[in-house]
Amino acid sequence: MTDFSSLGIEPKLLEAIEALGFQTPTEVQQQAIPILLEQETDIVALAQTGTGKTAAFGLPMLQRIDTNSRITQGLVIAPTRELCLQICKELIKYATNKKGLHIVPIYGGASINDQAKAVKKGAQVLVATPGRMQDMMRRKMINISAVEYCVLDEADEMLNMGFKEDISNILAHTPKDKLTWLFSATMPKEVARIAKEFMQQPAEITVGTKNAAATNIQHEFYLVAGRERYNALKRLSDTHPDIYSIVFCRTKRDTQRVAEKLIEDGYNAGALHGDLSQNQRDLVMKAFRAKQIQTLVATDVAARGIDVDNITHVIHYQLPDEIETYTHRSGRTGRANSLGTSMIIMTKGELGKIRTLERIINAKISEQTLPDVTDILNKQLQFLAQKIKSTEVNSEIGEYLPEVNEILADFSKEELIQRLMSVEFTRLHTYYQKKSNSMTPLEAKEGGKSAKARDTRYTINIGSRDHYDWQHLKEFLIDFLSFNPGDIYHVDVMDNLSYFNTATDKKELVLAAFEKFAIDGRSINVRVTQKRGQHIQKGNKFGGGSRKGRNRSRGGDSFGQFSKKKRSKGRGGRHK
Ligand code: ADP
Ligand code: MG
Repeated sequence: MTDFSSLGIEPKLLEAIEALGFQTPTEVQQQAIPILLEQETDIVALAQTGTGKTAAFGLPMLQRIDTNSRITQGLVIAPTRELCLQICKELIKYATNKKGLHIVPIYGGASINDQAKAVKKGAQVLVATPGRMQDMMRRKMINISAVEYCVLDEADEMLNMGFKEDISNILAHTPKDKLTWLFSATMPKEVARIAKEFMQQPAEITVGTKNAAATNIQHEFYLVAGRERYNALKRLSDTHPDIYSIVFCRTKRDTQRVAEKLIEDGYNAGALHGDLSQNQRDLVMKAFRAKQIQTLVATDVAARGIDVDNITHVIHYQLPDEIETYTHRSGRTGRANSLGTSMIIMTKGELGKIRTLERIINAKISEQTLPDVTDILNKQLQFLAQKIKSTEVNSEIGEYLPEVNEILADFSKEELIQRLMSVEFTRLHTYYQKKSNSMTPLEAKEGGKSAKARDTRYTINIGSRDHYDWQHLKEFLIDFLSFNPGDIYHVDVMDNLSYFNTATDKKELVLAAFEKFAIDGRSINVRVTQKRGQHIQKGNKFGGGSRKGRNRSRGGDSFGQFSKKKRSKGRGGRHK
């Protein structure tokens, strides 16, 4: 069994971490510590949150620091004040037995003079946030010209928060021959880029899957005025006719009200909250499992412990009071190797929470625009058409048809299609024509147009013929482009080709990646398409079988089969 001493950790540090209860090194520690202790190399280390990255860089760094010198030799840069303090506290614990080793935190919101004083006493290690760090550099309170080890901790977060320039500026004041150790939970392109820019042939370690928890779930948020949450929920549901979702509300009252409204509007919805009797709750859950209920509206408490597979969407009608609850909610989807989407309906005032959430879930939450009426109508009609196309003709139906044929005898095929489609079209069209159901100009303009212009839609010449469904294609694209799940969206697979969207600032990257790309001698082309923002029914297979019972004449339930294929593919090969 590997232990810390066999990794080369010195007795003084060993004693300290033993006292902390560290017995076995974690995987990232096992891989990183020997390299960082023995080799004069830069490193890029990827490991999920909570895997012990602090000790992975902290122990080797503390061991290598010369305590006879008072010069600053080690610098750790972290994105936030909390992290900075946390890392600092942890390092100080490791260093308890190393007399004369001083570790000082540098962060905003506290007295700069006190920090300068602490540095002046002789701090060999600084743990700093980028802002305060630069402040003190400008005021010559800090000298990092002799730094030997520089750690960029939570590099993905720092880039997310826009610290690229700051990092670059800080590093410019350090010696060329220092070692740079980059630690990150995920490896978006931006991280790869700074690794390239600031590091020399870094060693690379990846522990586990890159962000295993997050890969299955795509996180999105939609900005609306508070009073329009319900309209937004409806649009999101309407644009996914095959949705199988849990909608979370904050209170029992909202839960009941939203469910009632959905039912009134013709959806297969049900409410689950603490004011229902056990018996009522059992019935609702039974119907939900049987997919007779497509949208379950629930409180956090009532939904605790629900384990239903193949939920396609978790919708946050409101963000939870306790922000950590978000993880529990969104974890209801993306289970058992299927992909899921977590959609937050929120107001501008709540925007600040997104950062915190991204930290907690360790994944990006991308801003999305609510589908407009054209999107919705397109989706619904395509869905109906596909449904008709893939319906198996019932062998018994013949004897019931003569009367039907008589009634419809005079219509041409075109007319029949028009009428058939109008059943759905008119209902939705009428609904969305109503003033009360349109979204306010503010939202439509600010969220809508600008967000849409920031989207680019592509075609790729791979389709269901090549045995791709949207999930597999999305996976392929994420993997191939090293994107995060949230970077690729609106994936629609047709027979011969497919569509997908990215943010427009990723366009060059996408196009460059597919330039001259071939699989088995067949060239794979990706082109920008004009049909921006439009997207059609996800999935290409529609389950057969008849539906039990009569349905109301509403899109979602009148042809609400669930098309998500159970995925059989393993998740291997995702990481390098
Ligand atoms: P990360 O930076 O990867 O998110 P941290 O370095 O903050 O993770 O470590 C997470 C927690 O695990 C901390 O409380 C830390 O003290 C503890 N820890 C780290 N390494 C070990 C170990 N080898 N054995 C037991 N606990 C550990
Ligand atoms: Mg950490």
